[in-house]
Amino acid sequence: MFIVWFREVPKRSKNSSKSRGRRKSKHTSVRKLKIDIGNLVLNIFEDAVLALGISHLGLTDDELKIVVRNVIEYLLSGISYRPSKSTILNRLSKGRVRFAPIISETILSLRKELSEDLLEYVVSFGGPICAVNVQRLYSEILRKGREDLLGLLREAWETFGKPLPIKCPVCGFSSIKPDYTCLICGYNVKEEEFRKTIDFNSLFHIFLEITDEKVLRKTLEHQVLVYDPQEGLKSPPPSYGKVQYIIPLKEDELLRIEEKLGLRKPQRRIVKEKEERKERKAKEKPTLDMFLKANTG
Ligand SMILES: [Zn+2]
Repeated sequence: MFIVWFREVPKRSKNSSKSRGRRKSKHTSVRKLKIDIGNLVLNIFEDAVLALGISHLGLTDDELKIVVRNVIEYLLSGISYRPSKSTILNRLSKGRVRFAPIISETILSLRKELSEDLLEYVVSFGGPICAVNVQRLYSEILRKGREDLLGLLREAWETFGKPLPIKCPVCGFSSIKPDYTCLICGYNVKEEEFRKTIDFNSLFHIFLEITDEKVLRKTLEHQVLVYDPQEGLKSPPPSYGKVQYIIPLKEDELLRIEEKLGLRKPQRRIVKEKEERKERKAKEKPTLDMFLKANTG
């Protein structure tokens, strides 16, 4: 115990003083450079727009100036010296893809509604910014009739967003929340649709096979099962902090649990007995066939 304490304490204090120092120096360098940013933007504006490859997007000069300013501020925050104009342009040109999320974020803040060109740019290159603005971009794609961009948006959601384990049957994103609604398009998944998506019947069959009596009784009591995409079906309650879905059980499923527990005759036997009774009755009933036979005979 003592050794751990002894070794950790100086390390932590050294680290924190170091990071304080680093933060301080970064802060002063940004402040020093910030003074000239307005001028710098004016100076290199046209070249910067070309270097970033955003001249064709239909942004106004004022909008482009804001975009360029945001990118340059970001660029300068990462370096501690004053770079020359050509160094900046070179970095902008080489870092087109790296700066695309900042450009996309600025575009989204500047426009309430995106043109097709802007939409295409943001969805193609925005990366994490697409994930943050996924609902807005989804509805803008639909409004513009650019469904061809949905694949890219889904990819961004899978990579940078918070994909959920169940796919929405309407928008196709992995975005069904445990309350059965879609995070992106708002669709409310029907219970039957949900059961089909997870192949509930097979999972229920396995659940019945492998679950012990205590858990079966608990399930019978709650009349629901919890679906965990990693673990399959479990008895309630759902685990805290995990994405799990509660599925109410149907009458025949509850009966199957009762059968398994030996609380009632197997459903199959009941059905079979019913059929046999029906058959016997049918045999006893005089039929047209019997009537004809009796008359012709
Ligand atoms: Zn959806």
